[in-house]
Amino acid sequence: LPRFAGAVLESAFARRLPEMAVPFRAARPESPELVELTEPLARELGLDPAALREERGVRFLIGNALAAGSVPVAQAYAGHQFGGYSPRLGDGRALLLGEIAVPGDPTARRVDLHLKGSGRTPFARADGFAALGPMLREVLFGEAMHALGVPTSRALAVVATGRRVRRDAELLPGAVLARVAASHLRVGSFQYARASGDLGLLARLVDFAIERHVPEGAGAELPARALLAATVRAQADLVARWMLVGFVHGVMNTDNTTISGETIDYGPCAFIDAYDPEAVFSSIDHGGRYAYGRQPGIAGWNLTRFAETLLPLLAPEPEAAEEIALAELGRYPERFTASWDAGMREKLGIAEAAQRAGMGDDALAELTGGLLDDLRTHRIDYTLAFRELAEAARGDAAAFRARYPGTAAPGAWFARWLALDPDAAAMDRVNPVVIPRNHLVDPALDAAESGEPGPFRELLAAVRTPFAVRPGGERFAAGPPPGAPRHVTFCGT
Ligand code: AMP
Ligand code: MG
Ligand code: MG
Repeated sequence: LPRFAGAVLESAFARRLPEMAVPFRAARPESPELVELTEPLARELGLDPAALREERGVRFLIGNALAAGSVPVAQAYAGHQFGGYSPRLGDGRALLLGEIAVPGDPTARRVDLHLKGSGRTPFARADGFAALGPMLREVLFGEAMHALGVPTSRALAVVATGRRVRRDAELLPGAVLARVAASHLRVGSFQYARASGDLGLLARLVDFAIERHVPEGAGAELPARALLAATVRAQADLVARWMLVGFVHGVMNTDNTTISGETIDYGPCAFIDAYDPEAVFSSIDHGGRYAYGRQPGIAGWNLTRFAETLLPLLAPEPEAAEEIALAELGRYPERFTASWDAGMREKLGIAEAAQRAGMGDDALAELTGGLLDDLRTHRIDYTLAFRELAEAARGDAAAFRARYPGTAAPGAWFARWLALDPDAAAMDRVNPVVIPRNHLVDPALDAAESGEPGPFRELLAAVRTPFAVRPGGERFAAGPPPGAPRHVTFCGT
């Protein structure tokens, strides 16, 4: 295989956890074409964007030209999907190319470079390929989340393969996504290692995860406990961020739950328009298991599955191990609430005012509870509401009040909040005006799949600056057209 000279990759996962790494080579399409390149991310990784745009660079981005040190592998993992356990999932159409040491990072941070849509591996459950639309969806949501400050994997590139892929009755353009993540270690990775019965493998996986994600836990007496504690914190913070921006992941299976606390696998995900804890957008989530308001509970359930895998490493006695696991899991609700509360104080512009006024957690909960009750009752747009509240803080409550139908008006929370003298400028720094709205995303992806990339590019540019409307970008801030039917995201892949 020709080598790509510009990059050096490590193959630490492949080398240290060979039981969970199946060496595999990416498919080689005849005429690959670069569709998207996230240049700032490339530069951050020490990769030259100009070189990536050349033929050999494009071959590198789809795993055909390997960087020095790269050993592409399909990773093995298990997982609970919609509550049902699968002992063997794994990368069916994905490959880990290797790890990149982020240049100039004082903590010697490593990230994974990973492909999706690169061909059928031994774990494949379908054709091994990916369609262009869903891979551009990964770009769009990853960039939006990154700009919103939510921990996330990010697309480095999308390359069209020139190959058609069949999805239902349609033939769609095929693509490969090159994705960067803190790692691809999932709860499902630990479920796989534990189910193997090889405690040495499980311990090695714990050590690997600690080195990667919890360097301060390296000397811990019980590395597995340090890892559990850190993952509980990371997931609590992540899901609080999701809730604060109105994000619905859509497929919170344990194989999509990272140890790093980053969002991965943007499938049938969506941002809510009207505030609704029951909001479900995925066409396959019939029971509403992964509804917006259920996400904090589901993350807790997934963390419990994680803790179970670690039991043999927590203590020799099962009762003692369980006690440790329960103690760490018990911190999840308080961590989530603290994270959510801190975020809500910021969204409401009262981070300082609440402190000045000596506002306790209960008073804050009453305030946010009143606001969210109003939003739910009147199906008010969650994202726009906070921008309009900032206007109210500036003295003009007309737009916010106009969200209430007929003679309805904000509840008692509203006057109490205004009396705190909220900081409108601070609100505008944390409350987005542009999110990837459902009614814009699907048409933009459909257009891109039929060879018209314009709407996708414009939407992508808009979500990259979520706290400001660019000139001419008002349409990206608006909610869905009135009377639009409930949005459904089909789990196209
Ligand atoms: P997901 O639905 O993306 O969480 O994937 C569940 C499992 O199905 C994983 O093992 C995937 O690798 C596998 N899978 C999903 N789509 C494909 C595909 N097009 N070809 C092969 N395997 C797939
Ligand atoms: Mg997945
Ligand atoms: Mg479509």
